[in-house]
Amino acid sequence: GYGSRPEAQRLIRSGRVEVAGEVVRDPARHAVAADVTLDGAALDHPGGVLVALHKPIGYVCSRAGEEGPTVYDLLPSAWERRSPRPEAVGRLDRDTSGLLLLTDDHELLHRLTSPRHHVPKTYRAGLARPITPEVVATFAAGELVLRGEDEPCRPVAVTVLDELHARVALTEGRYHQVRRMFAACGNHVESLHRTAVGECELADLAEGTWRDVPADEVRSAG
Ligand code: URA
Repeated sequence: GYGSRPEAQRLIRSGRVEVAGEVVRDPARHAVAADVTLDGAALDHPGGVLVALHKPIGYVCSRAGEEGPTVYDLLPSAWERRSPRPEAVGRLDRDTSGLLLLTDDHELLHRLTSPRHHVPKTYRAGLARPITPEVVATFAAGELVLRGEDEPCRPVAVTVLDELHARVALTEGRYHQVRRMFAACGNHVESLHRTAVGECELADLAEGTWRDVPADEVRSAG
């Protein structure tokens, strides 16, 4: 995220870059990112990016941003120039808030989103109509087939929080899955908020802000 390759070479030749405390002017010199400083300051996230973002309602997870502001607007702008760039781990709808992981570790990204790994994602859903025991049983049975699909949804654990709110734990990530599952049972999701992905919890992270995620919080997932 510090510039193009020629720009980085210029920075090095100008003597502003040190490796393990020694000025290095040769751009071909091999170094570990964690040992490198620019103007005396350590590089930003030298080991890569893995962050938890509290996505507000109204933000989209794509970069195009034609439908409104994007989650990438909430991260440091220099990260758009990193290679590889951080990417959202799966997507949340524009109208869904809560925990979104982003990483530049594409192997981890694949593991967390792969349908084979069944990493649990926990949501708090607000419903238009009271949640019935029949809906809880239907979700748990793993027999619900969504419109336009052949494969039933995997079993989903529902904890009724009060008449109109439930905690829902998915182990897959189909398009608009929570909204479509409740719609298939004659209910309507009015609000949707993700509180956890695997072991990683949103907790009290302020809306619109992000925090670094220690590797062991998600790397064991799946
Ligand atoms: N299910 C949905 O319906 N929307 C989301 O954003 C995530 C899961």
